[in-house]
Amino acid sequence: MRINVTKTFLPPIEEYQGYIRQIWANGQLTNQGPLLKQFEKEMKGYLGLNNFHFVVNGTMALQVALRALDITEGEVITTPFSYVATTSSLLWERVKPVYVDIDAETFCIDPNKIEAAITQNTKAILPVHVFGRPCDVESIEVIAKRYNLSVIYDAAHAVGVEYKGESLLKHGEISVTSFHATKLFHTIEGGGIIARSPDISAKVELIKRFGHNYDEHRRLGINGKASEFQAAMGLCNLKHIEDIINERKKVTELYDELLIDTVKAPKIMTEIKYNYSYYPVLFKNEATLLKVVNRLEEESIYPRRYFYPSLNKLPYLKQTQDCPISEDISKRIICLPLYVGLEEIVIRKICEVVNGSAA
Ligand SMILES: *Cc1c(COP(=O)(O)O)cnc(C)c1O
Repeated sequence: MRINVTKTFLPPIEEYQGYIRQIWANGQLTNQGPLLKQFEKEMKGYLGLNNFHFVVNGTMALQVALRALDITEGEVITTPFSYVATTSSLLWERVKPVYVDIDAETFCIDPNKIEAAITQNTKAILPVHVFGRPCDVESIEVIAKRYNLSVIYDAAHAVGVEYKGESLLKHGEISVTSFHATKLFHTIEGGGIIARSPDISAKVELIKRFGHNYDEHRRLGINGKASEFQAAMGLCNLKHIEDIINERKKVTELYDELLIDTVKAPKIMTEIKYNYSYYPVLFKNEATLLKVVNRLEEESIYPRRYFYPSLNKLPYLKQTQDCPISEDISKRIICLPLYVGLEEIVIRKICEVVNGSAA
């Protein structure tokens, strides 16, 4: 049996069928249907936030966020250590990504290096809470205020993370997240947008629905709408989210216990309630990483190189920049399998290979 880095959580099928029957009964499949409204309401409750927009995927969420803040040109400061969508959403909107290197402990953008990257063309800062590890949100906020810049957080990994007792998703002008099937909490495909101000929230809602209300066309929009089937999956999975996080915590604790210290990623700060979204391990060099990946693949175990390559080196960028810390970590890091139902015997095997090869 093939062991991947993640395995999509599926709720009991009867629970999903219950919602599907509701869809059949009321005949509405999309366009802000009753399940979508219910899901948006329940997400606000779960996150403890008063704003939440459900959209078709996380990449769309990033692009709608940029449009809602009128960022359609110029530069946005971002991190090179992320999934490609963080950068591609900028490029797709014809905005130039300007990379600021990361902090070697948190893997998030290094706030001390942001100011040096600000120019008169800078429109915003787009950091990522990498693996659900919070960025230095306070320092970033201070810099953003000083230079009058917006902050959009790519919080694709941060559902369920609390920082100082509140959802991490409350930070920034906008936070966006992903509910893709590979993420900890999913709606098959899906994304969320959380806006701080009612004004931006109204823009988000308009843009995701083609920019019009009936015959009144108010601004350029797109089709970012999620369907009732996605909302149904979200409603099912939300009932299990605490269990999902607890199960992942157990897997994480077993890894913590079995792995040698030299491969463990630096501990994250203590003021958080973590969501156990990923289990990164860091090797001394790329050759060791490749050796470990090979040995694991021989056992039909497939970890993933999250994140590689460092995005500042993407081949289709007009101009590449140097981000030595991100480039170095990108070459040495993998995420180990982590999901509900991952068997202890597999975890032990993984640790044996990792410990053996890395020594
Ligand atoms: C998954 C992910 C995205 C994209 O989300 P999709 O829902 O797959 O479009 C964006 N940023 C990060 C950091 C991600 O991990």
